[in-house]
Amino acid sequence: MKSDNCIFCKIANGEIPSSTVYEDNDFRAILDLSPAAKGHTLILPKAHFDDVTNLDETLGAKVVPLAARIGRAMKSGLGCAGFNLVQNNGVAAGQTVMHFHLHVIPRYEGGPEIVTWTPGETTAEDREETAKKIAAALI
Ligand code: AMP
Ligand code: ZN
Repeated sequence: MKSDNCIFCKIANGEIPSSTVYEDNDFRAILDLSPAAKGHTLILPKAHFDDVTNLDETLGAKVVPLAARIGRAMKSGLGCAGFNLVQNNGVAAGQTVMHFHLHVIPRYEGGPEIVTWTPGETTAEDREETAKKIAAALI
């Protein structure tokens, strides 16, 4: 279902123009307006899902192969050395547009540092306890 107030619904369904890289019945892939690197692409489902927690599973199974295809095209078409897949869920995770989207971000030799974090420390006990909490909450 499309949501009336969602800008990515409008872009994905062609009501607002975009620099479209790819389109099929389920998805439109567009260039990001404020790219982390040249060719930064967003894959948008045409139907509205707030984030990955309610993304339709059939679409979810299609989106990673599509990202791989676009990433391969970035390597051969733009000459990037690699690419990152990034997908934010919730404001706390940096999500700013509440319509599921998968970032495909080309990485060039000597390019900008992105998607980094400071490696933390854990103990075996902490990992054991944390893994149990997540496993117990899986539904
Ligand atoms: P996120 O932080 O994961 O929600 O990412 C939202 C992304 O959408 C950002 O990288 C924005 O630059 C990008 N963005 C926002 N509005 C538009 C738009 N109208 N067209 C293309 N990209 C957009
Ligand atoms: Zn939407």
